Amino acid sequence: MSAPHSSPPKAAATLEISRQLLAHGIQPTPQRIEIASVFLCGDVHLSAEQVIARVAGNGRPVSKATVYNTLGLFRERGLLSQVSVDSTRVFYDSNTSPHYHFFNVDTGVLTDGDGPLPTLETLPAPPPGTMTEAVDVVIRVRNGPTPAT
Ligand SMILES: [Zn+2]
Repeated sequence: MSAPHSSPPKAAATLEISRQLLAHGIQPTPQRIEIASVFLCGDVHLSAEQVIARVAGNGRPVSKATVYNTLGLFRERGLLSQVSVDSTRVFYDSNTSPHYHFFNVDTGVLTDGDGPLPTLETLPAPPPGTMTEAVDVVIRVRNGPTPAT
């Protein structure tokens, strides 16, 4: 899924990341480029703590506050989406198209579901004076017996 990041982004990658940030109305600072590089290598789901660890692993530590602020900015500008698994676990997702997730409670890993979004026939009407903005689907799974082949 995601390749390990052991080196800072290369010049060509930096240019591409800068272009993507600008396309989302984000000024490409070195720290933003560093944080974006963690995500833009493919579809990844990372918590803020994982982002902090990866950026630190790249040898250019960025403060926690900067990471949180930058992730918030990226989400606000549509570069990342945010998936809340529960009140204590939030993931930032490089896949911003509509999709659903499986969350493995045993491993703590969030993965994208494959195929069309599940439909909810009995989705209730929103309260008066409101409208449904989004429906997030996270299917919680745990490790079970391997199916016989
Ligand atoms: Zn996802």
